[in-house]
Amino acid sequence: MPRVAVFSLGGTIASTSTPDERGAAGGVTPRLGAGQLVEAVPQLRDVAELETVSFRQIPSGDLTLRDLVDLAAEITRRFDRGVSGVVVTQGTDTIEETSFALDLLVRGPRPVVVTGAMRNPTLPGSDGPANLLAAVQVAVAPAHAGSGAIVVMNDEIHAARFVRKTHTSSPAAFRSSTAGPWGWIVEGRPRFAFRLPALGTRFSSVCSDRIPAVALLTSTLGDDARLIAQVGKLGYGGLVLEAFGGGHVPAHVVPALQDLGERVPVVLASRTGGGETLQKTYGSPGAERDLLGRGLIAAGFLDGLKARILLSLALAAGADIPAVREAFRQVNMSAVDGSCT
Ligand code: ASP
Repeated sequence: MPRVAVFSLGGTIASTSTPDERGAAGGVTPRLGAGQLVEAVPQLRDVAELETVSFRQIPSGDLTLRDLVDLAAEITRRFDRGVSGVVVTQGTDTIEETSFALDLLVRGPRPVVVTGAMRNPTLPGSDGPANLLAAVQVAVAPAHAGSGAIVVMNDEIHAARFVRKTHTSSPAAFRSSTAGPWGWIVEGRPRFAFRLPALGTRFSSVCSDRIPAVALLTSTLGDDARLIAQVGKLGYGGLVLEAFGGGHVPAHVVPALQDLGERVPVVLASRTGGGETLQKTYGSPGAERDLLGRGLIAAGFLDGLKARILLSLALAAGADIPAVREAFRQVNMSAVDGSCT
């Protein structure tokens, strides 16, 4: 049987309630470790030989890139010791960021599958056990070897580079609006709808104590650019701007962006949640042609949250502005260019 390591980080999948001193029930908090999560799903024994690691016990909003650099190092050690796949259980609030960070940090062809639950174990219809079983079934499937980190939720398989959390409470909260789900699980069999190229960039030598802060801002109607001007002054190592539509900002914001972009990398993403930033369509001041011509870096198909992860790790690996631009170009090459020119 294949060997799979299950790492637990906390989150809803691990959350239960305990009565307080007066016997009243408070809200749920992360309490179950990887061993308990695995024990609750006896069907796992038919799929893989499991080793469990309770790595963190926190809500996923408390995770940091440092935690993920340390987790990636531990995952790599397990792979070196012969584990054939890894499953990470955690809170769903930040899965879209953590899974992409692991995509960028873990080398080699073996799968890292991230899962969680929308309904905690005290609720009827809690989805954690089914998600964990499906994640392990995907972790032992060879079909996607080398394609990068994966998110499994609600019997759907998503590529970490595309997936987003799109609902506060539905078990069907995870969507990949640009590419669609990568696959699904039926009767325990993972099915992949298309081949996914590996990411062209990996950061295996990032030190967890050298990750600079990166700001993420969203363009809004009537934006006055005051926050953009503060980003450099506050010492951020870079900015990701979720701009309107295909990558547009109000014309009067351009000088502040250009000024900042001459000092630190400024990445242009879209606030729409789907599609790619444009390159050559709109010619108005503040549109994508203007901004890219002034040195801003295109996020391409990465949304703002994922662009921020890539920019943070690139800076932590010592990249300057041209190297950051190249990292974004490489990651975007991992959607195969289907044009003939
Ligand atoms: N607040 C939880 C978290 O840790 C939510 C969840 O797991 O669904 O992300």
